[in-house]
Order: sequence, then C-alpha cells, then structure tokens
Amino acid sequence: MRSQVDEIKKYLKPWTDKLGISSHEMGMTLDTTYEFTEKEIRPKSMEWDKEGAKIEDGVCKLPTGMEDIYRRLGEEIGLTLLPVPETYGGDGKPILYTACIEILSGGEASIGVGSAVNATTIDMISKYGTEEAKEEYLPKLAMGKIYGSIALTEADAGSDLRACGTTSELVGDSYILNGSKIFITNGGFSGLYIVHTVDKEDEDTPPRERAKFNVFIVSKDTKGLEFVRNEEKLGWHTSPTTQLSFDNCVVPKNHLLGERFNGLKQYFWGLCGGRYNFGGAWSIGLLDAAYREALEYSKNRITFDKQIIYHPEISKKFVKIVRDISMGRQKYLYAAYLREVNDPLSVLEATVTKVFCTEAAVRGVLDLIRLFGCIGYTKECLLEKIYRDVYPAVIGEGATEVLVSEVIIDTIKKKNPINKGTATLPNFENFVQEYLDEDYFRQTLGKNRKRFVPQYEALSFQYDNEEKEVMIPKQLIESDVLDWKLYHIFT
Ligand SMILES: Cc1cc2nc3c(=O)[nH]c(=O)nc-3n(C[C@H](O)[C@H](O)[C@H](O)COP(=O)(O)OP(=O)(O)OC[C@H]3O[C@@H](n4cnc5c(N)ncnc54)[C@H](O)[C@@H]3O)c2cc1C
Repeated sequence: MRSQVDEIKKYLKPWTDKLGISSHEMGMTLDTTYEFTEKEIRPKSMEWDKEGAKIEDGVCKLPTGMEDIYRRLGEEIGLTLLPVPETYGGDGKPILYTACIEILSGGEASIGVGSAVNATTIDMISKYGTEEAKEEYLPKLAMGKIYGSIALTEADAGSDLRACGTTSELVGDSYILNGSKIFITNGGFSGLYIVHTVDKEDEDTPPRERAKFNVFIVSKDTKGLEFVRNEEKLGWHTSPTTQLSFDNCVVPKNHLLGERFNGLKQYFWGLCGGRYNFGGAWSIGLLDAAYREALEYSKNRITFDKQIIYHPEISKKFVKIVRDISMGRQKYLYAAYLREVNDPLSVLEATVTKVFCTEAAVRGVLDLIRLFGCIGYTKECLLEKIYRDVYPAVIGEGATEVLVSEVIIDTIKKKNPINKGTATLPNFENFVQEYLDEDYFRQTLGKNRKRFVPQYEALSFQYDNEEKEVMIPKQLIESDVLDWKLYHIFT
C-alpha cells in the first residue's frame, strides 16, 4: 500500500503543475509536514486528549506542548506561510496548505481543524481586509505568531446566519459590538476573530428580511471581549470550543471586512474554503488514519483460524473505504484548485466535496471501529478517539442537510444544468492496483470489481460560452441521509 503522502502527491500534481508550483516544492512541503506530524504530533495525541483544553478565568490553556506545536508549524516548518499572499510575507500557495491539513489531521484532529479555520480567516482578511488590517495581521499569521478563528454561531443562530443577534453599531470612527458567540474553535487561543454581526439598523427586522450584516476582525485583546467558558464535548477535547462575549467592544472602522452591510455575502465566500479544508481535507485525514490503524489490526487479529482481513465481509468494507478516501481526496484537491483559479463552479464543487467527504468519514470510521471488537470501545484504542473526533464534520461549517437544501439543490436549480450523465473515475485500474494490491482485497474484488468502481452523476452547466461539469458521487445520491432531494434531480 502506498503512503498517504504519495497518494496526496499523485492527486495534487496535475493542479500544482497548472499553478506553476514545482514538484520539488510540493514534495518537500508534504514530506516535511508528514515527518513533523509523525514525530511531534501523532505520539502525543492520546495524552493531549486525556489532558484536554481548558478556559480558566477567561484564559485558554491548550494541552501541554500544543501551543509550541502551533508556533513551530509557523516558525520551524513554514506551513503558515502557505495560505498568505506573497505581498504580505507569505508564500501564496493555499492549495499546498489544504493538502497539509489532511496530514496534520491524521496526527491530531484539533491541530488540523485549528489550521483549517486559520485558513478561512486568512482568506477573508486577504480578500476583504483594508490595507491597514492586512499589514497589521497577515505577516503575523504568515509566521504563525497568531492564529485566527471564525465566530458565527450563537445560541439562536447556527445554520441560519440571518438570525444573528450580535449587533454592530457605527459610532464616529468605530463600531460598537454587543452580543455573544458560542462553540468557537480555538476561542481564547487565537489572536483574532472574524466576527459575524447584524447592523444595529437591522436588529429588529425579522431574520428573513434582513439585509445589513457586518463582519469584523476583532483582536483577542480588545476591551470588552471575554472568553467565558469551554464546552464539555464528546470529542475534540484538545480543542477549546469557547463561548465569547462582546460587551461594548470598540472595533476601529478599518477592521470592518469589505463593505458595510455586505457581511453575509462575504462570509459565504469565506466559508467556501472551509468546506474543502475542514469538510474535505480534515475529514479525509481522519478517515485515512482510521483506515491505516484498522488495516494493521485486521492483519494481526485472528478469528476462526484466519486473519480477520481475510473474512470477505471485512475486506469488502476496506475496499469501499479506500474508494471513498480516494474519491474524497481527489475532490477536495480539485475544489481547492477551482477556488484558486476563481472558477465559477468552485462553490458548488466545494459544497459537494464537503458533504461527500464528511459523510464518508463519519460512516467509514463507524464501520472501522467495529473491527476492533471490544477493544474499540476502550481508551487504549485510537479508533475510539477518532470516532469521537470525526462526528462534528457533518455539523460544522454547514450541516449536510443544510448544504444539500440551501446550497447544492438551490445552485443546481438556479444554474439550470444543460446535460446529465454518468462518469466513472478515469484511473480506476491504477487505483485498484496501487491501493489494493494485496491478496485479501483481490480475493474480495474478484469478478465483482464493477461494484466497487467509483461512479458519479455528472451535471454540465454553461458559463460564458464554456461548458463546465460537476460530478456528484453516486453514493451520495443513493445514501439515505437526505437524498430523496438529490435523487429527484437525477431521475
Ligand atoms: C466541535 C464544534 C466546533 C465548532 N466550531 C465553530 C467555530 O469555530 N465557529 C463557529 O461559528 N461555529 C462553530 N461550531 C458551530 C457549528 O458551526 C454549528 O453547530 C452549525 O452551524 C449548526 O448550527 P446549530 O448547531 O445551531 O444547528 P441548527 O442550525 O439548529 O440545526 C440543527 C439541525 O437541523 C437541521 N437543519 C437546519 N436547517 C435546515 C435546513 N434548512 N434544511 C434541512 N435541515 C436543516 C440539520 O440537521 C441541522 O444539523 C462548532 C460546532 C462544533 C460541534
């Protein structure tokens, strides 16, 4: 079986070639990240999970040594340079950062997610920040001196961002923010927060009729911003999930992102990156780590005189999971590429990617933990941790149901596809050989190879006289999470 890094390199190369990134640089970046993860992150992950992150008297404490890891990701291996534009001291190669998120997440979920939300904050400041704000924050983010968090969710506004209750009021040369946010990843650790607010002028308008939203960069040390508490959670113990309170927080006018009143549209743009960074790379990183751990265990565990991997039901599970990892990886890297070249299909592709990868990861990890029998239910089993950690994938940055209803179906209807068809993964033969070149898988595949071929439903759209295609994995359409809606589009 090829290594995770080799697989990523194979699928990344067509896009880095197009973007003019050399194979040498791509290889070096991924190899360094992998070595760092294996040496410095993975061995500590289970201990960190036991220790947990805390908020004490408004101060965030990450598990011992984790803050240092974040710092070294910037200072030592230069990872945080990648998403920041060159003009502001970065490397301007966000697609490489995306691929590294998969590697980091496989070592420790919370470092992967911390890096993913950091990418969203960098994206938003780079695109919408004033010149002063870019100069103030981007060089520090590039060096990993600070990280950023995204702050949208409130007690009465999660999926529905129009229901936001945190207000911003323009007074003289500043805005005054009041309200609170909950479930903010890395809240208290991050040096800045991208905060979604409703303009005071629209505070009393019913949510569906509101039009005036503002988004701000708020520094950690702003007077009136407090880190109230950390949620007690099923997983993500190593990641603070913090309640933030804004009490007459004064934010300078030049920390407004983009245009006044246009905040919601801007945040939708920012969250698109989160769909392939967190939804795609992060989820696939966790699924890949679970797969590798389960594969080793299944080769060693004997029942009924056989290694359990030789039971056809078990190797069939592995074949399907490997197929999903392969499809998910191709999709998130493609989505990252489309975003980088400003392709009009990038939002739809990123959303399909998020839904596919997160559902595949949550389902796949649940399938894999079973292979460990009773051991899988104990703290000594890595899968127990991954099982707890993977679940927020299908909720965070857009729950599956919301993304299907509000983004995928909506976009398909508006853009009116001109063609439908089916497609298979072009390099399926290679995929079988490279991933599954082992006896137990060959036996399982046998004459049934076709059943495992990754299949897509393809939709083509017309954009400026050019026909463009988006491929929706068939498993998604046929799964029963939500999919009568998607199903009807294709039948
Ligand atoms: C560990 C963790 C970390 C998080 N980190 C952050 C963070 O850093 N920053 C941040 O801002 N937020 C964060 N969140 C919050 C997360 O983004 C929200 O939980 C998410 O947006 C869903 O909002 P909600 O929980 O209020 O669910 P609700 O909006 O109440 O939705 C509940 C469920 O209803 C269904 N539903 C809702 N609307 C529709 C619809 N239109 N169609 C069909 N079904 C629908 C879906 O199944 C959905 O899951 C985090 C959450 C977790 C668990």
